[in-house]
Amino acid sequence: MQTELRKLPSVDRLLQEQPVQTLSREYGHSLVVEAIRVTLDDLRWRILAGADCPSQAELLAEIGGRVAASTRPTLQPLINATGVIIHTNLGRAPLSDATLAAMQEAGTGYSNLEFDLAQGERGSRYDHAEELLRRLTGAEAALLVNNNAGALLLILTALARGREVVISRGQLVEIGGGFRIPDVMAQSGARLIEVGTTNRTYRRDYETAITEATALLLRVHSSNFRIVGFTHQVESGELVELARECKLEMVDDLGSGALLDTAAFGLAHEPMVQESVAAGADLVCFSGDKLLGGPQAGIIVGKKALVERLKQHPLVRALRVDKTTIAGVQANLLHYLKGEALREIPVWRMIAMPLPEIEARAARLAAQLAEVGIQAEVAEGFSTVGGGSLPGETLPTRLVALRVNSPDALARSLRLGQPAVVGRIEGGRLLLDLRTVLPGQDEVLGRCAKRALVTTDKHG
Ligand SMILES: *Cc1c(COP(=O)(O)O)cnc(C)c1O
Repeated sequence: MQTELRKLPSVDRLLQEQPVQTLSREYGHSLVVEAIRVTLDDLRWRILAGADCPSQAELLAEIGGRVAASTRPTLQPLINATGVIIHTNLGRAPLSDATLAAMQEAGTGYSNLEFDLAQGERGSRYDHAEELLRRLTGAEAALLVNNNAGALLLILTALARGREVVISRGQLVEIGGGFRIPDVMAQSGARLIEVGTTNRTYRRDYETAITEATALLLRVHSSNFRIVGFTHQVESGELVELARECKLEMVDDLGSGALLDTAAFGLAHEPMVQESVAAGADLVCFSGDKLLGGPQAGIIVGKKALVERLKQHPLVRALRVDKTTIAGVQANLLHYLKGEALREIPVWRMIAMPLPEIEARAARLAAQLAEVGIQAEVAEGFSTVGGGSLPGETLPTRLVALRVNSPDALARSLRLGQPAVVGRIEGGRLLLDLRTVLPGQDEVLGRCAKRALVTTDKHG
């Protein structure tokens, strides 16, 4: 044991080694010294426990691995083979090439973010996406904030603080991550007046709740659940009418904010922003990274006077968007204006992906795995849109199904691979849905699956 311990080189000697010097140039001296110290410490314990001193090559490889691991970002790209298109835990919407290019360009240099080039004086960052949003939605004005939760908080704070907001009991939703409408309401200082019942709310329920203290009528899209059976909700148009009669504002939180009709793809019709604006909603808010398919943002469109009031509110400063976000939102919206959203925006490309295309990709992957003796078959199944839109709605898909002794163990080794792969387990099989796998990732997915299957076989 003592002789084995004496074989361990010193930190200084290791630092003379060519591969270590290369590491130093790449990662910097101090990270490398730290990795050497930790590695040697670790080895001393292992040798005391009876292990042999590793070879020089093994030692250097371990140091290299440690340095690389210590600088690896915690946020890492992965392959989404779950078939859930807008997967909140996996980062919601992947971005289009043009969106990414615009964000890169805005981030690389300076821009006229808050500078009016014609006048040579201070401008507003909120002017940038406004024209595009007006054209696409038909609204008078628009405002971009950090996310839709922020958008709703801003609206309620600016327009209803200390006053009452009437909402149907069937719309007091909780979105993933603990975002609850009643909690946002409490934060805003507005008082929540719940009307109707969980399944049925009528116009007269709102009418009886309206008092001197009422500031606005709020409609929240039940984006992640569906109440079926004996149900009734008041449509936007009817709510707008009532708001007009009572000189109140009607605010519509759409959640997902579709600009295209999901019904064209065999799905239920998700409420569209244009429809809500046309119905006369005073303000409509929605996310930038759900069905819109762009960067994280909260988008508010509606009446000019109200949007102006929001822009003047101090809270807007706390919710303000970064220049890269503005650039990305604009580039993403441009896809809609140019009529190329289905082709260019990944979320819509996935929704619109023809079944034969998915089937062909699944067959290729299954064949690739079969080549190395892995039992993989193409199976029928369903993808979902996810991300708080179209609950219960599915898109037919084709899956690569892996039948193994322990699907949980396989799922784990897929998750721990580089890159990580997330699939889903159903009926004792691990399923990979190619619909949400980006084009160009199929090969890598095949390699990852092979590697994971081999490791799982070895270790159970
Ligand atoms: C998703 C959602 C929100 C929250 O939007 P974020 O952009 O995630 O902040 C708010 N309201 C509804 C109805 C939603 O579906």
